[in-house]
This record gives sequence, structure tokens and C-alpha cells, in this order.
Amino acid sequence: MKILVTGGAGFIGSNFIYYELEQHPEDEIICLDALTYAGHLKTLAKAMANPRFEFIKGDIADCEFVDKLFKREQLDIVVNFAAESHVDRSILEPEIFLKTNVMGTGVLMNACCKYGINRYHQVSTDEVYGDLPLDRLDLLFTEESSLHASSPYSASKASADLLVLAYHRTYDLPVSISRCSNNYGPYHFPEKLIPLMIVNALNNKPLPVYGKGENVRDWLYVTDHCKAIDLIIHNGKVGEIYNIGGHNEMRNIDIVKLICRELGKPESLITYVTDRKGHDMRYAIDPTKIHSELGWLPETKFADGIRKTIKWYLENRSWWENIIVRN
Ligand code: NAD
Repeated sequence: MKILVTGGAGFIGSNFIYYELEQHPEDEIICLDALTYAGHLKTLAKAMANPRFEFIKGDIADCEFVDKLFKREQLDIVVNFAAESHVDRSILEPEIFLKTNVMGTGVLMNACCKYGINRYHQVSTDEVYGDLPLDRLDLLFTEESSLHASSPYSASKASADLLVLAYHRTYDLPVSISRCSNNYGPYHFPEKLIPLMIVNALNNKPLPVYGKGENVRDWLYVTDHCKAIDLIIHNGKVGEIYNIGGHNEMRNIDIVKLICRELGKPESLITYVTDRKGHDMRYAIDPTKIHSELGWLPETKFADGIRKTIKWYLENRSWWENIIVRN
């Protein structure tokens, strides 16, 4: 099989490429990535040495470029990770989120329709459902929950999901969608909560926490997400949405304090900053469907995953120091 992974120089896409190269020694992987501020070739250094891997620099929203690529490569599967992914940036500069996340998805699907594909998989997010109240722990997002996006980021992802489902209905394009909760692990860009806190703590810099830090996220180790996508593209039903989450809800402030403890840093580094506009309070996923249909279950417990992640940042200083300097 020839698999196109878009956005593979970013956090989850790169972890997915490493997972696929290891799990499917018969497959070839092409990574298409525009190398925005969030994408780094260094992240793919180990894959570059593999003859079954090829990197191509390009923009998923560039119709002509994408058309030529699809014509030349005769792809079997497309997994679209390419996106602008940071909520704070979407509040400051929404336009680029519409271009990449919505228009880019449309360009990829047009090429899939024109040249044919066995599966187009859209990597979406639980943020399309909006948020849940802190005092209703009984409520979880299911695949039937309505779309209530709060930020330009989540609205652009929800729009892309609607487009993907419409291409399935209208053109019979064999699509699937996954909506995952917050990921953590290696190669996570240090603007997101967990890597930002780890690198700031290591540099003895302030640890900025929004509001009172009471916002709750459902954290999943990135390899568990990659495994779920792999199951969906091979065994998941066409036209379906699968929620992915680890039943691991934690308050932001508790994560930050845990990182301080693990690194032996004082909690006095924590600084409370003005809350994000429209900040979602709580995300919580019901992953019953992917468990019952595809047998997926998360394998990494948070206590182990966060230690592995911290260890990775300690052992890969040059990766993140280089990124901090560039940005
Ligand atoms: P990321 O920001 O780390 O990586 C995004 C990658 O996409 C980068 O390599 C960037 O260069 C590339 N890219 C951006 N615009 C592009 C364009 N126009 N053409 C080609 N490449 C482009 O993001 P991530 O955290 O790895 O997220 C990947 C996907 O997973 C996104 O679609 C995101 O919405 C989704 N998701 C993320 C999380 C999470 O916790 N990080 C959770 C659920 C879903």
C-alpha cells in the first residue's frame, strides 16, 4: 500500500509515520508537509533513512501541486493530519485556519475523487463538540453529540468534517473521521500545555496557566491515538466517525503541578494569566464505539506516559532548543 500522510512533520503525524513504518513493513509512506512553524524535518530524521519513506514539501491547499502529486503517485490511502492546530493562534489569525483546515481538506478530497482512493481519513478533534460543564461528570461526547465549536480552530475542523461527510454522501468517496481528545508525547511543539510546561520548568521560567487552571482535558498518549487511526484505516467502516479518548480527565493545574514534582521544580514557578477568550471548560470522550467495533483500548497509563514524555524532553534537548530559537 502507498499511504500519503499529510502534516507528517508535526507532532501526531510524525508519531503516526514511525508507528506505520514499524507496524506495516510492506507499506510505503509519503509525507506531504508545508513545514510551517509547527513542522520540522529534524522530527523525521529517523524516517528519512528508510527506503520506504519519502518526504515532499508542499501545501495541501495548493490545488495544482496536489493534483500533480496524486497523478504521479497512485495512492491507496490518505491520512490528513495537516492543519493549523493551536487555538490561541486561531484567535489571533483565523484566516490561515480556514485556508489550511477547510480549503486544504477540500483540495485533498477533490484529488481523491479525481484519481481514486481506497480510503481518505480525516484526523479531527473532540473540540468540534464544544465543551461540557465541570459539574456534570456523567456527560461525555459521543459520535452523535452535536457540533458546537467554540474557537476558529475548532470551527474550521468541524467545517472540514462536514465537507468530508458530504464528499462521502455526494461522490461516494470512501472516507472515515476520527475525533480524538488531547494528545501528549514526543515531538510535541512547545506551545501546547504539556511540552510548554516541561521546557519552561527545565529552563526555570514561569509556567503560565490560564485562569485558575480548572479546565479539564481528557489526555491520551500519542501512540494510542496512532494505533486507533491505524485500526480505522484498515478495519473501520467507510463513512463513519470514531471518537478516541482514554477516560483520563485531568485539570490543567494538576498536570502542571505533576510536571513540577516530576522535575523537582518549585510550584512557585506557576503564574496565573488572563484566561483564553471563549476557553472550553471540559472535554470528555466516550470511546465505546471504537472499542466495541475495532477492539481499541488505550494501552499507556497517564502516570507512565507523562514520565516517558518528560524523559524524552530531557534526552532530546537539542530538538526543542532548536525550535524555541527558530520561533
Ligand atoms: P501540529 O501543529 O504539531 O502539526 C501540523 C503539521 O501540519 C505541521 O507539520 C505543519 O507544518 C503541517 N501543515 C500546516 N499547514 C499545512 C499545509 N497547508 N499543508 C501541508 N502541511 C501543513 O499538529 P498536531 O498536534 O500534530 O495535530 C495533527 C492533527 O491532529 C490536526 O489536524 C489536529 O487538528 C488533530 N488533533 C490534534 C490533537 C492534539 O492534541 N494535538 C488532538 C486531536 C486532534
